[in-house]
Amino acid sequence: MKSLGLDLISKVKQVQFNKKLQKIKTYEAGKPIELVVREFGIEPQEIIKLASNENPLGCSIKVQDAVSKIISKMSMYPDDSMIKLKDALATHYEVGSENLIIGAGSDQVIEFLIHAKVEENAKVLTNSVTFAMYEIYAAHVGAQMLKTTSREHDLEEFYQLYKKENPSVIFICTPNNPTGDALGAKEIKNFLKKIDNDTLVVIDGAYMEYAQAKDANKEIKPKELIAEFGNVIYLGTFSKAYGLGGMRVGYGISSASIIKELYKLRPPFNITTLSLEAASVALEDEEFVQKSIKLNFNEMKRYENFAKEQKIDIINSYTNFVTFCFNDNQNSTSIASSLLESGMIVRDLVGYGMNAIRVTVGTSVQNDKFFALVVKYL
Ligand SMILES: *Cc1c(COP(=O)(O)O)cnc(C)c1O
Repeated sequence: MKSLGLDLISKVKQVQFNKKLQKIKTYEAGKPIELVVREFGIEPQEIIKLASNENPLGCSIKVQDAVSKIISKMSMYPDDSMIKLKDALATHYEVGSENLIIGAGSDQVIEFLIHAKVEENAKVLTNSVTFAMYEIYAAHVGAQMLKTTSREHDLEEFYQLYKKENPSVIFICTPNNPTGDALGAKEIKNFLKKIDNDTLVVIDGAYMEYAQAKDANKEIKPKELIAEFGNVIYLGTFSKAYGLGGMRVGYGISSASIIKELYKLRPPFNITTLSLEAASVALEDEEFVQKSIKLNFNEMKRYENFAKEQKIDIINSYTNFVTFCFNDNQNSTSIASSLLESGMIVRDLVGYGMNAIRVTVGTSVQNDKFFALVVKYL
């Protein structure tokens, strides 16, 4: 990035910020292609990004057409009732619109629910390795993090910690990012039966479209959850299977009373006109989603074979990414940076305490390139 290179800090009195911010590490998203172009001088078309679990097929052509048609509407504020998208989601999930809140990514819904529910010093329970944003939003409000020890979700361990610590919110990410493992729907329901009504349980289903296609037992139906439990919120997103990461649309599905509370935190017009249109149309193009899922699991087989050949441990994945866990003679950080210098962006998981990389399953051509490159650095 361009910088003026001026260091004025020493000359001026410094602004003191909210102390809670001191504990927060800025979230590092998958490295943008634009920065790799600058840093390594690689041509943009030669860079392959398999780092943010984006859909390698892009998004539905129907979505692109629909968005182009309304492009001139960008001068007006969006429809803040979001009626078209809410109707589409309500039909898709067989819930009412009063059970829905739309966020700028499901990230924003996570922010709403933490701010709505968690008091300072209250506890938030998550898996040992999981989506980093839970902890970041929990830090906003000065919450205390509780984490399990097991790499994959172990609901018995969750339950023991719940009983002992009485957390305000429990996050269950299924399938889990960055490990790819998923829980069964039955297991989750049995767990929920044991949780008191004042603990909010969040089921983050960002990769659910993939998981349910691979194994029907992993499918969590938000309609059933909210009919049975008054303390659950299900999260979904258009960023993964629907290929709309750039549009920033996600949602929460919960009881009307929980949604009503979350609405108090929602800024007006939090979803743009073009994003609302894109998500509404994407939801209707089931064919595109199915095609994406099929490609994903066909290509994932090649990853599994590759890992077997190279004797690398991978975690059985219900998502659109594969997590390679290296042995002690290999180093995820040096492997990821060698790949980066060759124009291949993957996610190093060292920050999660794992000697592992997470690789989004790409197109056949992209995956070929990954296999060919990574063998040089193992
Ligand atoms: C990608 C992701 C999200 C949210 O993505 P948005 O783009 O903010 O909708 C939420 N949870 C998990 C586990 C994810 O991987």
